[in-house]
Amino acid sequence: MLSHFDAIVIGTGQAGPSLAARLSGAGMSVAIIERHRFGGTCVNTGCIPTKTMIASAYVAQTARRASTYGVNLGGAVTVDMKAVKARKDAISQGSSRDLEDWLRHMKNATVFLGAARFEDATTVRVNADTLRADKIFINVGGRAYVPPLSGIAQTPFLTNSTMMEVDFLPRHLIIVGGSYVGLEFAQMFRRFGSEVTVVEKDSRLISREDEDVSDAIREILQSEGIQVRLNANCISTKRAKDGRGVIVGVDCREGEPQVEGSHLLLAVGRIPNTDDLGLDRAAVETDTRGYIKVDEQCRTNVPGIWALGDCNGRGAFTHTSYNDFEIVVANLLDNDPRKLSDRIPCYALYTDPPLGRVGMTEMEVKKTGRRALLGLRPMSRVGRAVERGESQGFMKVVVAADSGEILGAALLGLNADEVVHSLLDVMYAHAPYTLVRRAVHIHPTVSELLPTMLGELKALQVE
Ligand SMILES: Cc1cc2nc3c(=O)[nH]c(=O)nc-3n(C[C@H](O)[C@H](O)[C@H](O)COP(=O)(O)OP(=O)(O)OC[C@H]3O[C@@H](n4cnc5c(N)ncnc54)[C@H](O)[C@@H]3O)c2cc1C
Repeated sequence: MLSHFDAIVIGTGQAGPSLAARLSGAGMSVAIIERHRFGGTCVNTGCIPTKTMIASAYVAQTARRASTYGVNLGGAVTVDMKAVKARKDAISQGSSRDLEDWLRHMKNATVFLGAARFEDATTVRVNADTLRADKIFINVGGRAYVPPLSGIAQTPFLTNSTMMEVDFLPRHLIIVGGSYVGLEFAQMFRRFGSEVTVVEKDSRLISREDEDVSDAIREILQSEGIQVRLNANCISTKRAKDGRGVIVGVDCREGEPQVEGSHLLLAVGRIPNTDDLGLDRAAVETDTRGYIKVDEQCRTNVPGIWALGDCNGRGAFTHTSYNDFEIVVANLLDNDPRKLSDRIPCYALYTDPPLGRVGMTEMEVKKTGRRALLGLRPMSRVGRAVERGESQGFMKVVVAADSGEILGAALLGLNADEVVHSLLDVMYAHAPYTLVRRAVHIHPTVSELLPTMLGELKALQVE
């Protein structure tokens, strides 16, 4: 059946639903198409479920350390994985349900279930329905990349999606990929009680970060008993002889050439869900990796088609996808010329302690050759962290020597994912660091040491 709408939204990730609400609120008729679970990655297989499980892992770890605080639990700590999963499911599925309910009751909006495919630049097909609109918004997100490792076709493996079904304790979880997703799962499952090995082809973990950050995170993970195998060349996989486990060939410079485990998790990056959208029929351009090319307002090369969220390759986070929505409606409905380049990079890695990141790394600043100042403070000199018995990590900030603007920061420590926003907001204000330097923060907090750190800046040495 052919139906006409003012707008079609493909995908209910972090941009689509809010966009549908604003468009329908502005009086447009909107078709919303979802092929799987409402809420997409963040709600079902990404942020929400992983952070919910990380909370369980944190409690397990704190319970194990209870005697450090003078608290006796009187027995070994055990984790009930079925209960961990049930708690995760309740929170994640509740979010997805609420979202579906919101969309189904949205005025002027019609929900279609199924995979959308372009017929041409104004027509989309979903199952037996043909939908036509002058405005089409693509918010299809991405999925785990499965690399063509030797033997992978014959080896059972997990991804961030299938990990969500795990309600048992893997005896030994081997994680290929030492980046953000892999490291969160590594610490989580180690704390649940699994043996964990992280295999990384690079010479260090999360290699986009500064070396001191990578090293500190590796030390934190190793201190909990996680095995880290770096410089892993020619990674290969096969089933163990008994058929019940996996063997990963790592061919590292040091250590055993193979790691034998019970389960394998692939966490080596993500690819956009653009390969089966029929983009060629609408003549929408993508880059060589399949990301949809967009301009500063998330407009594709085809007038009337926008791409938002992970699928445009301009961000890989829930907050960047949501910001894409804000940019699109600001330009389309609010006469407000917001643009992608207004956005300052920021994200967190939810290991414990977490890493809060904004702006440039120290390494990136050095590459620009500009004169800069560096502030550094170990968490062991942050009273609040010491009192909490969680003083691993350090805080680091880089400031432009001429303007005094904060160029970037890496805070690895207690509550760093929250504390980093003090710096981020000053960066958005384009105010000099002295604004924070002179501010009086509450005692005892981690944030109270930001002014102190900024009062002890030293010249950044460029080798
Ligand atoms: C393990 C993990 C942990 C993460 N943790 C964090 C975190 O802590 N913080 C953070 O900011 N980000 C995190 N992310 C990233 C975050 O989940 C994504 O950046 C975020 O979900 C934005 O996605 P999106 O809006 O682009 O689309 P998605 O959320 O991926 O949603 C896309 C939707 O489109 C649907 N779809 C796809 N193709 C079609 C089609 N042809 N027709 C109809 N529907 C279709 C999909 O089913 C899906 O529902 C994490 C990711 C992973 C994998």
